[in-house]
Amino acid sequence: MRRAFFLIVQAGIAIAAALFLVEHPGSVTIEWLGYQAHTEMGVLVLAVLIIIVAAALFYRAWRALLGAPGSIARNRSQSRRMRGYQALTQGMVAVAAGDVESASKLSRKADTLLDEPPLTMLLAAQAAQLHGDDSAAARYFERMLERSETEFLALRGLLSQAMRDDDHLRALELAQRARAIRPMTPWVIRTCLELEVRMRRWVEAQDSLVAAQRAGLIDADTARRQKTAVLIERSREAEAAENLDAAQSLAHQATGLSPLFVPAVLREAHMLERTERPRQAAKLIEKTWPKAAHPDLAEIYLRLDRDEDPLVRLRRAERLYALAPGEPESGLVLARAQIGAEHWAQARETLKALVDRAPSRRALRTMADLEHGESHDAEAARSWLLRADSAGPDEAWVCQACGSVLPVWSAVCTHCGAFDTIVWTKPVAAMHLPFHGAEPTAGSTLPPPG
Ligand SMILES: [Zn+2]
Repeated sequence: MRRAFFLIVQAGIAIAAALFLVEHPGSVTIEWLGYQAHTEMGVLVLAVLIIIVAAALFYRAWRALLGAPGSIARNRSQSRRMRGYQALTQGMVAVAAGDVESASKLSRKADTLLDEPPLTMLLAAQAAQLHGDDSAAARYFERMLERSETEFLALRGLLSQAMRDDDHLRALELAQRARAIRPMTPWVIRTCLELEVRMRRWVEAQDSLVAAQRAGLIDADTARRQKTAVLIERSREAEAAENLDAAQSLAHQATGLSPLFVPAVLREAHMLERTERPRQAAKLIEKTWPKAAHPDLAEIYLRLDRDEDPLVRLRRAERLYALAPGEPESGLVLARAQIGAEHWAQARETLKALVDRAPSRRALRTMADLEHGESHDAEAARSWLLRADSAGPDEAWVCQACGSVLPVWSAVCTHCGAFDTIVWTKPVAAMHLPFHGAEPTAGSTLPPPG
């Protein structure tokens, strides 16, 4: 609209000027260097206008000619980059598809066409990995480490190589470096935790657990359980190093976090016993017993008096029993103490009630012990033992990851290396296995005999 308006105005001015020249005719004479030119005023004005327009056109053409090489070069480099990116994309696709040949070829092509080392190096590294050339891949990753924009990617590549080579120390170093760059990245936190646990770097693992919980990778319950597991292991190591105060304090932290977690209570009770605080140990077990009765707790509890007298043991067993009379474990502890004190009738009464209600393998074997002890009745004892063998397995420390039955609880399965997988339960697989009475071997799913 504005353009049209200006055109009309320009045309108006031109017509007005033309009319003015026609209405006011005149002539012009130019004298210069001995020449003389004579012409109409209108013709002169027209000639001047033509010269101005021609000069403007010539100037434009001249500029275009001067700029031509640059724009041709620009176009050429643009097309080169386009081809480079195309090679890069196709190379990535080839890597994803596992096409070794194309991946290497396209990687070289992208490298020649593109001046973008971060991208082409990554493709080259991946192509080399695909080719099975780990040392070449490592070289590319090492070069990528030097640039801040590719450092994280390189760490991931080198880390997965170290993990494949089972070089845990190097892997942890790389994972911790990656965590320094991006502390909240889930795979970084997971890898750090996994390696710290595997290398028994418990203090660092504790920090990783906090990070994992903050990043939402584990819920509050899991975090608490795993932190407790780590504290128990730290306490064990402190005790092994004869640092008893630290061992006791760590065990106490563990029970503080999980008051009903048997391995934690066992640890603290053991440390209290070791540091000559039997009354505190007894109190701790008494507090736990009604909610988490466990044979190992009873074992510590009964020996706290350091008195081998069977009657003293029986009194302690009675105290424990009174805390949770309905608990099969209470009945079993009492019956064994009664057998030890040769209180046969009472023992039979306790065991009968137990076997009627919960005929566990241990209860049935205790019954056989009673028959032996009271009347040396081998036949009766044998029949109880046969019944015990056909009963399902008793609860034991079982790794939920590999099914192994372990003599003691630990944060890491000694068979498969899994973290936080050992629970007190009935081993499922053992139910389908015949019991040969042989010693359980590593990886065996049989419970320890007895
Ligand atoms: Zn396991």
